[in-house]
Amino acid sequence: MTASPFAVAALTCIHLSSVGALPREVHIDAVSPYLDGRREVRILISDRASRVSVRPRAAVYVEDGQSGTRLSVVQRGVLLSVARRGTKVHISGPGVRATRERIRISPVEGDRGVTVSTAGGWGRRGVYPGSLLLTATERGLRVVENVDLETYVAGVIASEMPSHFPIEAAKAQAIAARTYALQHLGGHAGAEADLCGRVHCQAYGGMPASDSRASTAARSTAGEVLLWDSVLVDAMYHSACGGTTATAWEVRQGKLLPYLRASQDSSHASPASAYCGQDHDVHWTKRYSLAEADRLVRRNLELLLGRPGLKPGRLRTLEAAIGPAGDRVQWLKVQTDVGAYEVRGDAIRWLFGDGRPGPRGLRSTAFDMRVETTAAGQPTSFSFSGRGHGHGIGLCQWGARGRALSGQSSYEILAAYYPGARVIDLSR
Ligand SMILES: [Zn+2]
Ligand SMILES: [Zn+2]
Repeated sequence: MTASPFAVAALTCIHLSSVGALPREVHIDAVSPYLDGRREVRILISDRASRVSVRPRAAVYVEDGQSGTRLSVVQRGVLLSVARRGTKVHISGPGVRATRERIRISPVEGDRGVTVSTAGGWGRRGVYPGSLLLTATERGLRVVENVDLETYVAGVIASEMPSHFPIEAAKAQAIAARTYALQHLGGHAGAEADLCGRVHCQAYGGMPASDSRASTAARSTAGEVLLWDSVLVDAMYHSACGGTTATAWEVRQGKLLPYLRASQDSSHASPASAYCGQDHDVHWTKRYSLAEADRLVRRNLELLLGRPGLKPGRLRTLEAAIGPAGDRVQWLKVQTDVGAYEVRGDAIRWLFGDGRPGPRGLRSTAFDMRVETTAAGQPTSFSFSGRGHGHGIGLCQWGARGRALSGQSSYEILAAYYPGARVIDLSR
């Protein structure tokens, strides 16, 4: 067997530099926290929560988050309540009652974690293995977890990829998620965090103890990241491409990356069948009446175009244009009785949702649109027939599953979705 050009290479000499606000292009030298022993990432678990409940799964210290003074040792199973008191944080429970600027809850030993539930704001119930820093903001309580990078990567796999996916797909996901995390360190500096636990960065809801496959995938790829030249790859990923991945510039204007370009997600042996289409229906349809489309367009156009106060007028019709390099719609023209507006790239999906990235709207921009009309040619409804789910850029998760089932390794999977990139191991 010939050596794969996508071999894992040990990096021998890495200059350690300080990490502040990272440039958009992250040079390999800049990811020193992983190498200098910190190896922790700060994850924004919740912001503006009205209340936070914490139940340790093993003994924890409750500390003054500023001075580090230990306030209490709390045993497993005890329920602690946290609330905001003005600019301070108040914690109460059996054996502990304190009000401080900051409160830290950290494990006495091990990583069995604490169960956290939040009320108000975003965030969700989960088991968090790291140490938690609770602070008060103008809008409520903020929870930031300091967690080992590899534990975080395992948590991302558990949140981002169904647990029945094969291990080689999970390993590819681990390498992509780790690369993404290191590239976005400090991304939530305003909240004293690196990444948030939402899909805005990468979904992370702590570590479910039952998902051992996620832990195995993180552990067996520990330290491995994707590099282009000596710069971290912008390791985007999505649910299913539907047969063809997207070129990054189709969706993120002005950004042309050599390893993020449209490619067929199928084998030479069966070019008609997509890897992500095996055991998974990548086709979808949506239909909006003129009245429904009109309501959505009126509500969302202002936000999507960034034009506050816009009065778009009454919808007349829609027109879609396919990009030159693929099957994705590059722009959608919204024709109203007062003018015409162009919605470009991925934002097209949110036009039919609530105007921002989320579960509603169109599943992808890989669609054909049919305008149904009256006999007189007046549009009455818009029918979308599409493929795939997500922006289509980079790793296709269902495709990774299909490739793993047909015998590809995690490195072969990554080579398919980030062509020309290579994997190196930062931990060596
Ligand atoms: Zn984020
Ligand atoms: Zn695919």
